Amino acid sequence: MTPHTRVFVAGGNTLYGHALTTLLRTEGFESLVGVGTTEPDLTDAAATDAFFAQERPECVFLCAGRSGGIGLNRAAPVELMRDNLLTTLNVLAAAHRHGMAKLLYLASSCAYPKHAAQPLKVESLGTGPMEPTSEAYSTAKFAGWKLCDAYRREYGCRFVTGFPANAFGPHDDFTPEGGHVIPALLRRAHDAKSRGDAELVVWGTGAPRREFVYSRDLARACLFVARNYEGEAPINLGGGTDLSIADVAHAVAEVVGFKGRLVFDTTKPDGAPLKALDSAPLLDMGWRPESDFRAALNETYHWFLHHRATEGRTHARRAV
Ligand code: GDP
Repeated sequence: MTPHTRVFVAGGNTLYGHALTTLLRTEGFESLVGVGTTEPDLTDAAATDAFFAQERPECVFLCAGRSGGIGLNRAAPVELMRDNLLTTLNVLAAAHRHGMAKLLYLASSCAYPKHAAQPLKVESLGTGPMEPTSEAYSTAKFAGWKLCDAYRREYGCRFVTGFPANAFGPHDDFTPEGGHVIPALLRRAHDAKSRGDAELVVWGTGAPRREFVYSRDLARACLFVARNYEGEAPINLGGGTDLSIADVAHAVAEVVGFKGRLVFDTTKPDGAPLKALDSAPLLDMGWRPESDFRAALNETYHWFLHHRATEGRTHARRAV
């Protein structure tokens, strides 16, 4: 890859997409295509095909498709599964038809079996049932991996699949209903502090463990893989911090400055008991994460504060 390589970040408005676009710009990539409003509707096969025919990207990061936390996965499994299946089908077909771009498909650690041995090795994929709360979304992600694999075998496409750990960072979904645990808790802790609440409710028992990776590190891992990995086997994109949900809730409360009590609502689901990736293959290739969890959490909270402030101003201007 050179600064002139034509790169398309499919799903540029997602958490991963924003982090990747920012990183690519910082790294001096001059030919990003389909950025912002110029990204086609990737659920539309004809629009996606026309975009690839015109722009002919040479490298594609496929981060498109809706995703969300445990709440959204339970409330909207159809929409999540359809969106991910459609965008993946369309982008892979267009990438194949118009020039065999190097493509990195971002799957999800949710696609691992619920009770696979930890840390999760790619050899465990497909060896058991998935976590039921996110099964529809995860099945779409699993299918995306298998489709990349099929394109490799049948047509020799340079399609690589990465399985990222739970990512967080700026541009995430901070809604209490839709977001993953970190943005949702940052938002709810912020609101609880603003209202002067005595308690912050944390979903589930607090016992599940997750590996969290900052979106900037995930973007760095993606670029590293796009440059250095051509293998047939999928590759885990982790190397982050392994924490219990209770640890996360305490860290969030501290960063936000919420001084009240944490209450665990055990009527809410825990989801998978554990999710940490074995990222040895990536680390063996020489990649290392750079971010400190607490500093990344702080940065994410400050992005949220600034973004809310900007949103407020934008709405105020519109109202005038
Ligand atoms: P998952 O990694 O796919 O299970 O998705 P989440 O990030 O949504 O949830 C991770 C864990 O955090 C689960 O055990 C949730 O019950 C727990 N959790 C605690 N509070 C919250 C919250 O406010 N929102 C979300 N989404 N999860 C929470």
